Amino acid sequence: MQFNVASLLKGPVGVTQRHRLDEASLSLDDAQAERVWGHVTLMRVNDGIWASGEFRASVTCTCSRCLQPYGVTLRFPFEETYYPSLDINTGVARSLPKEAEADAAIDHHHILDISEAVRQDIILATPMKPLCRANCAGICSRCGRDLNHSSCTCPKEVEDPRWSPLLDMLSHRKT
Ligand SMILES: [Zn+2]
Ligand SMILES: [Zn+2]
Repeated sequence: MQFNVASLLKGPVGVTQRHRLDEASLSLDDAQAERVWGHVTLMRVNDGIWASGEFRASVTCTCSRCLQPYGVTLRFPFEETYYPSLDINTGVARSLPKEAEADAAIDHHHILDISEAVRQDIILATPMKPLCRANCAGICSRCGRDLNHSSCTCPKEVEDPRWSPLLDMLSHRKT
């Protein structure tokens, strides 16, 4: 996810370059993106290059209920500004603006690398409590069986206390 932006940096403000992107894999903190694809537009702005676009990522998540891996396709917008670490015309070193992240620097060879920002965006777009399906039955907390495939014979958990007045009433009726 690297682009040589030397010609863009030499150009006037407003000039753009559009790139297609299709990466085989990207490692995330707790997961792995199998594929990342989309497009990015690089635009020369006053203090650097503004990158924007939209990406999709195929990510393998682990279901928070049944702990089985499953795949999702995430879609997310991308927007980031990158700053040259060298003045393209004079070759004089430039420092990053205070608010910029370290990975927002365009290196001395005029290479702009969006991979760290894309990685962060994928992590943000990944669900915090991923579920393989909305009604995933999860695993039994006693025997560990995956209840999506078969039920178990473990005694059920204690009933919800909010039901107890109703259960009392029903048991009174029976007697
Ligand atoms: Zn699940
Ligand atoms: Zn069980």
